[in-house]
Amino acid sequence: MEKIDLLYEGKGKKLYSTKDKNLVIAEFKDSLTAFNGQKKGNEEGKGSLNCEISSLLFELLKENGIESHFIKKLDSKNMLCKKVKIIPLEVVVRNIATGSLSKRLGIDDGLKLPFALVEFYYKNDALNDPMINDEHCKIMNILNDDKEIALLKETARKINEILLKFFDDINIKLVDFKIEFGVDENGKIILADEISPDSCRFWDKQSNKKMDKDVFRENLGNVVDVYKEILLRATKKVD
Ligand code: UDP
Repeated sequence: MEKIDLLYEGKGKKLYSTKDKNLVIAEFKDSLTAFNGQKKGNEEGKGSLNCEISSLLFELLKENGIESHFIKKLDSKNMLCKKVKIIPLEVVVRNIATGSLSKRLGIDDGLKLPFALVEFYYKNDALNDPMINDEHCKIMNILNDDKEIALLKETARKINEILLKFFDDINIKLVDFKIEFGVDENGKIILADEISPDSCRFWDKQSNKKMDKDVFRENLGNVVDVYKEILLRATKKVD
């Protein structure tokens, strides 16, 4: 499958049309951004690591009954996906308090939450991606009804259960992660975007060493090295 036109360029990926109107190619970029684009960087090899890790996790989720836009990995940085209309929500699932949750509510960094917390953020850079609730989603027509809201939350929790177990087996704590959903050509809501160390927080089980984009956010070292370690542990588990 060949790329035709550039449809969209985001912070982490470029999306291209293909000769099939229902399929797109997502190319993972080496660039990194944090703090709503205020901090920028570029690390050679980061894009292909995220493409590999995302592909592996979408495959894992598929085997466990979670449908996504992922069709197949084409090469080291490109994946073939179903074309979807992205729902402008960042769905965040948290198992351990850190980041904005700790800052906003004063919950101790590193505290294990009694149950997985699901939050919605409205994807809008100009507004700084504000957190919103179920009623905002309906008033703003982001989701149509309670059924769709429940579906997103249930799917997010199922994904969390699958990923928690997978990462626990490779000695990684899945602290939190962000996922996005889209609507396919049949009107069905499916998982989309990516699941990578750019969009998840991973801490080493023994040392609590950060193995995700916080390494870039907080200047803790080289992101490529830690993303490689995630891929290495994950592929050993898959093989
Ligand atoms: N996240 C993301 N994109 C965003 C905001 C957050 O992928 O635009 C991920 C982030 O990597 C973390 C989780 O969502 O895994 C929760 O992030 P948080 O709300 O704590 O925000 P932060 O502290 O990163 O600003």
